[in-house]
Amino acid sequence: MKIVIANWKMNVGVRESVALARASLLTLRGRKVIPELVICPPFVALSEVRKVVARSSAAIGAQNLFWEPTGSHTGETSSRQLLELGVSHVIIGHSERRTQLGETDEMVNKKVLQALSEQMTPILCVGESKGEREAGEARAVVETQLATALRGVRLHGNARLLIAYEPVWAIGAGESASVGDVIEMHRFIRSILANLFPDAPAGQMAILYGGSVDGENAYRFLRESEVDGVLVGGASVKINQFKEIVEAAAEVLEAQRPE
Ligand code: PEP
Repeated sequence: MKIVIANWKMNVGVRESVALARASLLTLRGRKVIPELVICPPFVALSEVRKVVARSSAAIGAQNLFWEPTGSHTGETSSRQLLELGVSHVIIGHSERRTQLGETDEMVNKKVLQALSEQMTPILCVGESKGEREAGEARAVVETQLATALRGVRLHGNARLLIAYEPVWAIGAGESASVGDVIEMHRFIRSILANLFPDAPAGQMAILYGGSVDGENAYRFLRESEVDGVLVGGASVKINQFKEIVEAAAEVLEAQRPE
């Protein structure tokens, strides 16, 4: 399994999103095996992007949701509203929301529970800050984030859970984490998930890396069996970069195919 998630953040408008969605889908053309592609446009572009993505294998993700299904929550968007727009995935707990908007692990937990209750796939972001890594606290931070964010979570039926390990210091920084550090953290996260969900089949959970993934370094991460995919921010709105990332994932999958 290799998953490529494009997080366009607030970087594109509606018209640009439509063009970018078309170009992103073209990157899948002519391949024998393709990665799972999840496109996460800004909210305002979801319905237009849906029209482009319909009938393709790509899925649409939202960049956030609110934890209540309906009600007086000005400016918020519910999972039900997102489902109406064909959204199947949702990024939850991105570090930009944690640091810029004060999103806490408790809020993240409510959002994860809400997404799963509506059969949406959460893309739960976790990761340590530079200071926490330098203090040797990276594992402890990620463990706490996961323990709180996944409190009360059950994976029923086909429910899926994607974890994006995104060290805060590597996001938008132009400097990714080392492959060795990513593998080590992914193993650690996998062991936590195995404890929390001992009965969940392997394919139900995936661990992705995010943080300055680009066309140049994507293959180095994707070829590792510990890395089930990548969450891409900046390079996902640069179509040449994004094409290289999708190609790297496809190459890895092709190499894994039985003769
Ligand atoms: C992100 O926004 O989740 C991200 C990983 O951004 P970038 O690829 O720009 O570091």
